[in-house]
Amino acid sequence: MDLLEHQAQELFAKHGVPVSRNHVATTPDEAYAAAAEIGGRVVVKAQVKTGGRGKAGGVRLADGPDAACEVAAAILGMDIKGHTVHKVLVTEASEIVDEYYASFLLDRSNRAFLALVSAEGGVDIERVAAEKADALVRLQVDPAGGLDRDSALRLAADAGLPEDLHGDVAEILLRLWDVFRKEDATLVEINPLARLADGTVRALDGKVTLDDSARFRQPGHSQFVDVSATDPLEVRAAEKHLNYVKLDGEVGVIGNGAGLVMSTLDVVAYAGEQYGGVKPANFLDIGGGASAEVMANGLEIILGDPDVRSVLVNVFGGITACDAVANGIVRAVELLTSRGETISKPLVVRLDGNNAAEGRRILAEAALDGVRTEDTMDGAARLAAELAGKGA
Ligand code: GDP
Ligand code: MN
Repeated sequence: MDLLEHQAQELFAKHGVPVSRNHVATTPDEAYAAAAEIGGRVVVKAQVKTGGRGKAGGVRLADGPDAACEVAAAILGMDIKGHTVHKVLVTEASEIVDEYYASFLLDRSNRAFLALVSAEGGVDIERVAAEKADALVRLQVDPAGGLDRDSALRLAADAGLPEDLHGDVAEILLRLWDVFRKEDATLVEINPLARLADGTVRALDGKVTLDDSARFRQPGHSQFVDVSATDPLEVRAAEKHLNYVKLDGEVGVIGNGAGLVMSTLDVVAYAGEQYGGVKPANFLDIGGGASAEVMANGLEIILGDPDVRSVLVNVFGGITACDAVANGIVRAVELLTSRGETISKPLVVRLDGNNAAEGRRILAEAALDGVRTEDTMDGAARLAAELAGKGA
């Protein structure tokens, strides 16, 4: 998950990386109030998840509250590289003497963490790397040992930063390393890391990417999720701990195991070509131990998708045998009916693998309204596609 600048700054401040005083504003009036509270000159900055905001006109100085209000009115609603600005950050303006660069990132190809420091900050760092590779100093950081003070000092020196700043910059690097490790980030970047007229060094911009796989041990990070930018069905699915991704087709898909679901998507898309180009409406893997409740939750999400016209349940029985899955489907339908949900869309079920015959028998005996079974994956995909294609 990529963070907005103000969220990155919040994590910087938490770990002692020096940042400017700031307030978030969503309206020009709020920007006025923020500037009045900060006092003096301020910088109004578009909060969008893309770089190069400065060049695009999304970072502007303002001399006081009135100017901040005016500038915020111009920036809010702006489009920067396809991102609409809904929020601005109002920060105290710094008098910049020089701009540097510092980051830590996960270097996947070398299975290590990497520190990058440069005296050439403020500009696009990819350009520095391409045109003046020597100006970008790299150091592999041992994940277990971490960054020590001597290495941090050496980074500052090797990058050619002014000698009188080595101590301060080393301290900032150690704190930035804390952000990286303690917040489970895969990228933390300061650009520019600025030397100010008063001799101090400060992070004037921040970029952080958090490792989503570590979310379970970072409960505080849920506040950073932008619910408004996530599909509402995905939000509901995540609340029910379902592995769901919304796609743009018409055939709802439920399966057990990511590989099976992925291939089900392919088979549905292929079969759909014959029925007016219908496509899978989602990815949903209900995992190995698919209980009736999980099945019901999955069906509820999929049936709640207005684009869905038919549903394909594709289960290969393994440790959880097909009879258990069939009972799960029967109970899921009962559960949904009791929740007041109508199963308004046709369901095609394909059961194979462990105890498939018994599973099919259970479904046949239950004779649920709108539920049909097919013996093969291809046959089931074809029927689901045909049912979805009908009203087209
Ligand atoms: P980016 O363009 O998206 O990387 O946004 P930045 O936050 O890095 O801002 C772009 C540029 O605006 C920086 O490189 C600075 O030159 C300038 N800038 C940012 N904050 C200040 C500030 O407090 N004072 C001054 N004078 N310039 C600033
Ligand atoms: Mn920047």
